[in-house]
Amino acid sequence: MDSGDSEKSYIVVVQCDHAISQVCSGFQCEHAFTARTGGFAGYPATGNIRYLSMSCGGCPGRATLRKLINLKKGLKKREQTDSGMVRVHLSTCITHSNHHGPRCPHVDYIKGQIERAGLDCVEGSRIAPAAEKRRSEGQYQE
Ligand code: SF4
Repeated sequence: MDSGDSEKSYIVVVQCDHAISQVCSGFQCEHAFTARTGGFAGYPATGNIRYLSMSCGGCPGRATLRKLINLKKGLKKREQTDSGMVRVHLSTCITHSNHHGPRCPHVDYIKGQIERAGLDCVEGSRIAPAAEKRRSEGQYQE
């Protein structure tokens, strides 16, 4: 477990807009979070950890910063909450090659946006066993 996992109580998953605009509901990542598997395995099983997913907004992910700033403002204004409890996960559809496409070519740019927002960021969300197998076999475009 990451030593900071237990300090985070608001998880944001940024997903590839190409994947979610027409196909993905976001359920698989939410399910993985609820089951504490894949990229979420380190979080405590108990406790009130909130979950929010959002699209990057489309290439090259410029909307990510605006959306995260909107979130930070909302947390501060509506809940008087410090954003230090937030961690952003870049979803596996962004960080790994998969059936939607290769790893996003704008990952570093998006990470820079998250850093500008002053938020913690890690790579990965749901890890699908079948996709892991195909990656290991080199079936996906890199
Ligand atoms: S910037 Fe990356 S994550 Fe966002 S839509 Fe484009 S390929 Fe997908």
